[in-house]
Amino acid sequence: MGTGQELNREAVRVRLKKEVADVLLDAMENHGWRVFDAGHGVTIKCPCGTRDHRAVSVAHTPRDAKREANRVHRLMAAYPCWNQKKVD
Ligand SMILES: [Zn+2]
Repeated sequence: MGTGQELNREAVRVRLKKEVADVLLDAMENHGWRVFDAGHGVTIKCPCGTRDHRAVSVAHTPRDAKREANRVHRLMAAYPCWNQKKVD
């Protein structure tokens, strides 16, 4: 379950394997995604608030980190809001 607490860049780096963390840090930095504690992993949410852009779960200890990183990146990049400028 986890606390649902929002994680900062440092927490993401500590918590996830490097390949996966790099993808999420880029999403946070350049695309405005947010990352939340989900116990055995994290949940990431897109910044646009569109309802069907559901939260994506990311495995804490994927068997293949590179593969998990690619999977997560594909999911995020499939959302139209991926290429919009970050607004805040
Ligand atoms: Zn979105």
